[in-house]
Amino acid sequence: MRDELEKPIGDVRLAEGLRLEDDWFAVRALDPGTLAIGEPAYHQCNWSYLISDADESLLWDTGSGRRPIAPLVARHGARDVTAFPSHLHFDHLGGIHDFGPVMLADLPIVRALEKDGAVTPTDEMFLGAYEDLSIPTFEVGQWVSPGTVLHVGSRRLEVIHTPGHSPDSVSLWEADRLRFYAADFVYRGELYAQTPGASLQAYCDTLTVLLQRLPQEVQIVCAHGRAEHGVHDMPQLDYGDLETLLRAVDTLLDMPAHTGEHQVNDRMALLYSEASFRS
Ligand SMILES: [Zn+2]
Repeated sequence: MRDELEKPIGDVRLAEGLRLEDDWFAVRALDPGTLAIGEPAYHQCNWSYLISDADESLLWDTGSGRRPIAPLVARHGARDVTAFPSHLHFDHLGGIHDFGPVMLADLPIVRALEKDGAVTPTDEMFLGAYEDLSIPTFEVGQWVSPGTVLHVGSRRLEVIHTPGHSPDSVSLWEADRLRFYAADFVYRGELYAQTPGASLQAYCDTLTVLLQRLPQEVQIVCAHGRAEHGVHDMPQLDYGDLETLLRAVDTLLDMPAHTGEHQVNDRMALLYSEASFRS
């Protein structure tokens, strides 16, 4: 299993400006207080983000769990670190047990999982069977509703519900730095709209809202990347990619339900199933 999920770190080429840490993580400072943390040797090439100011840090996703992310976060983050998984898929909860009670989106579908202050995702929301992982139970310290503006020191980040890839997905919008932390809603590579709970109509509705809310200059940072021309970099998209994706989703929604893959542009493809036309 390990061989399929990882490649030797020595075979990974990093873009200029990325630094290898702990022989696993590719790290890049976006600006003072924001660290992108990639896992380019992991087959899904996850990227988590450490958002810090003053004595506070927010860890946006806790990594694949193939290596512990907590020591890196302890080196770079503030004393007070809160982890916030963007959604409950296994590859975003990897290091969750190394952090205290986490922050989680206050959505009915997620709240329904709570028992005695802890959450246990369902099989369909976790999807860990893909990698033989057992479902974690973890404590939730703060429930944040969509629309909430989080304060990390003097930084402000709005929680936006972004269903499409999964019904429990949220993203963060930091207007002061013109940055949108998209998580799995959009990223470079094959977008998964074929997994349980994924919905093309939800993609359409979320994209419509985002295109109204976000400015054209927005920097979109994503939770998955890939090697491009053999080199790994922090995955970014822009406003035009959202417009192109909306046109692609609209085209698909005009067709009868079917399973397939649609090349959106040179940065994204969309995987979908018959079920994603229904939900
Ligand atoms: Zn996901």
